[in-house]
Amino acid sequence: MTERRTMIVTGASRGIGAAVALGAARRGWAVGVNYRTQPDEAEAVVRSIRNDGGEAVALAADLGDEAAIVAMFEAADRQLPPLGCLVNNAAGVAPRRLRLTDLDAAAINALLAVNVTGAMVAAREAVRRMATAGGGAGGSIVNVSSLAARHGAPNLYIHYAASKAAVDTFTHGLALEVAADGIRVNAVRPGLIDTEIHERAGMASRVEKVAPRLPMKRAGRPDEVADAILWLASEEASYVTGAILDVGGGA
Ligand code: NAP
Repeated sequence: MTERRTMIVTGASRGIGAAVALGAARRGWAVGVNYRTQPDEAEAVVRSIRNDGGEAVALAADLGDEAAIVAMFEAADRQLPPLGCLVNNAAGVAPRRLRLTDLDAAAINALLAVNVTGAMVAAREAVRRMATAGGGAGGSIVNVSSLAARHGAPNLYIHYAASKAAVDTFTHGLALEVAADGIRVNAVRPGLIDTEIHERAGMASRVEKVAPRLPMKRAGRPDEVADAILWLASEEASYVTGAILDVGGGA
């Protein structure tokens, strides 16, 4: 990278997002470490980056809140170099195994507000800053989808799976919409990754239960997803747009 630019990573206080933030800093990006409820975790990621000589700030925002997303981008404008990449990683999950008949509109909408609307609003803010037509220097967006978009997650969380299918279609459409504006838009679709998301979804032992049934007989690590995201964000992927890369160990 010639001039340092900023990557904003949503949901970067832990899990895959934290791995992306740390890996991005090692590759020379200044990093906006977004979090919602855990400032201590986000600050720990920021400290780790700064201790290694990198540049990072923690950025609070609930991705379900448009005004908060806009304020987060404005805070990044003030504190960090120009934006070069957005990683749309934050996601809501179901609090436990649910069937469609357990769901009401409020629960469905709360999840869609973060996973779909929030991702689109964040992408809009990124496009406004990066589009060459508006005087920006171009850049890229990487959306974090899920293999659930393919298998549908029956008896688990079909609304979450459907939200990730929306992310896939959004990736494809936006990639075409902004291709001539110097912005590439891609997605990764992780399979089973060993993070706290499973505990959040009320299935703390999911990794040990499911991993033996996977082709590689193990879950993925956050850094293995981060490496795919960071490649898509890099100049090495300069002719890749609209791609959806499965990172699921063959699942
Ligand atoms: P995780 O360990 O639970 O971390 C989620 C992160 O997102 C945290 O930093 C959390 O911060 C943040 N977050 C959640 N809701 C937010 C909101 N409304 N606004 C802002 N930040 C929010 O999850 P993960 O496993 O790393 O998942 C990261 C991404 O990978 C998600 O898009 C997920 O759907 C996808 N994915 C994961 C797996 C897997 O097996 N782990 C598989 C497929 C796809 P707070 O705690 O502060 O809210």
